[in-house]
Amino acid sequence: MRIECIAIGTELLTTRRLDTNSVWLAERLAELGLGLSLKTAVGDSREDLAEVFRAALERSDLILTTGGLGPTFDDFTKELFAEILGVPLREDAQSRADILAFYEARQRVPPPANFKQALIPEGAVALRNQVGTAPGVLWVDPPGHPGTRILMFPGVPREMKRMWEEHALPRLRSLAGRPVHTLRLVVGGVPESTLDQRTQELRERHGQLDWTILASLTQVELLARGDDPVALERARADFEPLLDADLACVGEGNLEDAVLDRLKVRGETLAVAESMTGGLLASRLTAIPGASAAFLGGATVYSAQAKSALLGLDPATLATEGTVSEATSRRLAEAVRAKLGATWGLAVTGNAGPGAEGDAPVGTVHLALAGQDGTDSRTFHVPGDRSEVQLRGTARALDLLRR
Ligand code: ATP
Ligand code: MG
Repeated sequence: MRIECIAIGTELLTTRRLDTNSVWLAERLAELGLGLSLKTAVGDSREDLAEVFRAALERSDLILTTGGLGPTFDDFTKELFAEILGVPLREDAQSRADILAFYEARQRVPPPANFKQALIPEGAVALRNQVGTAPGVLWVDPPGHPGTRILMFPGVPREMKRMWEEHALPRLRSLAGRPVHTLRLVVGGVPESTLDQRTQELRERHGQLDWTILASLTQVELLARGDDPVALERARADFEPLLDADLACVGEGNLEDAVLDRLKVRGETLAVAESMTGGLLASRLTAIPGASAAFLGGATVYSAQAKSALLGLDPATLATEGTVSEATSRRLAEAVRAKLGATWGLAVTGNAGPGAEGDAPVGTVHLALAGQDGTDSRTFHVPGDRSEVQLRGTARALDLLRR
């Protein structure tokens, strides 16, 4: 079965609004074991919409649209489908009553143009809108297209979601395939291309699964999808030893979850001293509920002053060793560990840009991890603009801690 989604609205073609409706619908379809073949975003233009609708009717069995059901001059999803299929629009009594009730409940009188929303193509059914005024439409077997289903939703995400749950989902269940399951392996500190090479052979051996490598600024995810849970479990058993220490977590969660889990299991605690990352590391860790079991806190020691006043670094030594250096990161890590009595002290200094700082080029990250057996430190050079360097810096720091 071929399924496509058409997101309608001129704003979706600008930087003002992202088409999140299609993403949400794709997730719901996946839960039913239904895959999306195509998605289109198209402006409120009659010509463009007509072209997209005609093509959709030729190529797809299930067509989902969002937007263009409103009362204004630029809303014509229903009219266009009716026109293309040669069918008149008829007023739906229930929809008219719902519109009236919606306004009455707000002690207002509906503007006459609003009743345009109650018009439904003949032969289609209206889907009630519990949170707005525009009903949706389900059109099964439209003229000349037996076996095709068209589902038209409002553009307002809240209205679309409610309508999906209450009216569309019960009518689509009969189309459902086998539910799709996902295996998610989160890898830290390994570039995407390396992971690609390293896993190629094993991915081929598990070729009945659908594989994706998804890289973000902070981690790389290896995803497998398939309808057989046993096949996914076998893949997991094979990939775990291959990825070994590079594997941060399996299933939901990210690097910070992996770090906190590990600390909790060992009964260890962490304190951080952040210069370049300005608190981002603490923020990522505290975003996780229950972080306090392992994360004690720390200091944002952005200036030389803060490094001395809060963590007691000697200003003269600091001037000699530099505020951005591995030596200073080591001192900060040791100081914050001692000050909070933590198992681990982790510190980051670096240069996030935009300009060079001393002899440290943009993207320099100096990490230090102080523990009871001494202090480990590393220097990395990461790409990106200021916020990317900061975020990548936190990823390197979390990865150092995780290993
Ligand atoms: P309706 O069919 O509900 O009348 P509409 O297209 O007439 O939809 P608009 O006023 O254009 O309604 O959009 C309503 C709101 O929903 C806007 O904030 C719009 O940006 C948002 N919206 C519309 N389509 C999408 C989409 N695909 N993804 C995310 N937001 C969307
Ligand atoms: Mg619109």
